Amino acid sequence: MAKAKKGNMAFVVQKHKATSLHYDFRLEIGGVMPSWSVPKGPTLDSGVRRLALPTPDHDIEYSHFEGTIPKGDYGGGAVMIWDEGTYNPEEEIAKGVRREVFDKMEGERVAKESLKAGNLKFHLYGKKLKGSFALVRTAGFGGKESWLLIKHRDQYSEPGYDAKDYDYSAVSRRSLAQIASEERPSKGSA
Ligand code: MN
Repeated sequence: MAKAKKGNMAFVVQKHKATSLHYDFRLEIGGVMPSWSVPKGPTLDSGVRRLALPTPDHDIEYSHFEGTIPKGDYGGGAVMIWDEGTYNPEEEIAKGVRREVFDKMEGERVAKESLKAGNLKFHLYGKKLKGSFALVRTAGFGGKESWLLIKHRDQYSEPGYDAKDYDYSAVSRRSLAQIASEERPSKGSA
């Protein structure tokens, strides 16, 4: 069997029960992690689009956090590493034809330009999320910037995929309720 390809940059999806439940989708670009809050979570269903609201850039060093943020602190509540892995940007070389950028330097350039242009395409190598996706900036509602997270149709597409059916950590297998019920955040324990 051929060795699995992998991406040059990190991504993480943190399931987060703060004021409301959402999934923080973060892509490493230029030394930080631009982030989007996805209320319904990412999906492998290429037939639906998920609303993704931009949130402040995240430090890469906090991307491995799983545990409970104390009540009263910003984002207080349980955090699960719902998925993690690597990615490479993709470029559209012709209408509907995408090319994955395997070169790291070129990939960083493409990712930065795509982010600015409001149209990111990328190939994820996660534990749950795999294959080609896009994040596209839209006009939004009432002047508020909003994006859509879209799964491109490929071998990893899965109709009906719903993140809420996969309530377990990619690193500890714990459910969000299990994480929330532990008094101290503990990393990597099951
Ligand atoms: Mn959050």
